[in-house]
Amino acid sequence: MAKIIDGKAIAAQIKDECRAKVATLKEKGIGVTLAVIQVGNDPASSVYVGNKKKGCEYVGINSLAHELPEDTTEDKLLDLIGELNRRADVNGILVQLPLPGHINEDRVICAIDPRKDVDGFHPASVGALCIGQPGFVSCTPAGIIQLLVRSGIEIAGKECVVIGRSNIVGKPMALLLLRENGTVTVTHSRTKDLKAATGRADILIVAVGKPKMITREYVKEGATVIDVGIHRDANNKLCGDVDYDDVAPVCSAITPVPGGVGPMTIAMLLNNCVESAAQTI
Ligand code: NAD
Repeated sequence: MAKIIDGKAIAAQIKDECRAKVATLKEKGIGVTLAVIQVGNDPASSVYVGNKKKGCEYVGINSLAHELPEDTTEDKLLDLIGELNRRADVNGILVQLPLPGHINEDRVICAIDPRKDVDGFHPASVGALCIGQPGFVSCTPAGIIQLLVRSGIEIAGKECVVIGRSNIVGKPMALLLLRENGTVTVTHSRTKDLKAATGRADILIVAVGKPKMITREYVKEGATVIDVGIHRDANNKLCGDVDYDDVAPVCSAITPVPGGVGPMTIAMLLNNCVESAAQTI
């Protein structure tokens, strides 16, 4: 039976490390502050924002909540970002996505100072990752690397297959696995023979966005399977992109949903905020 990779425990470990770093920074007179901007009140976004605030509280990061009405203009949002960019006491700026349709997300992301881009979505951050320079890395894929490393799963030299090529998960995931010396294949909706590609994977990262799509036919015996998906099934129970009950018996390690990748995203966001503050020393 597969080893279950406990994302909740690993995320707790990272949060405790952040808490200790925040305390050390405070002793040196340096506070850590994250500004979180939410436009409108999409219920899912409100839950994510609430969890981020709770995470900040736990590690000792100040969180500044900017809750703006749905009809906020793009210019007003850009003005706020400009103001937060200029504030020396703000180390991280996070704009909760998705934004209402009348606001151009790319323009908003580009307006954030890359030194405060704790979500790692700014083109300068993505470019830095691509050419191996320092910069913030998108939290979910960064968290997946931590899950692998802290579970003792070696990446170097392994066949790593990523399903999905989104800017938030698939692409940065592939770049990070490459940085760790994996042999990386990226698959997507136009891949001709998905099973042939995934069947070669020693490490299979699934970010396809389709509930329980990945069954054991896609998985090599003994592979490590990381499930990024989050969905509710017909019984309103949380599930992932992987059919866990079908796949777990054939792989060597697997992340559950919930309790796998999910908790890592916030832990890495907090870690990025701490790193941002530490860089101001
Ligand atoms: P997305 O919809 O932007 O991307 C899905 C990708 O899957 C696309 O690149 C597409 O080409 C590919 N795809 C679609 N159908 C396919 C098929 N049949 N075969 C092969 N590839 C196919 O999704 P995303 O933002 O990358 O998110 C993926 C999943 O991860 C979603 O379920 C999302 O909710 C979840 N997610 C979880 C976290 C977390 O913190 N745990 C964070 C981000 C996203």
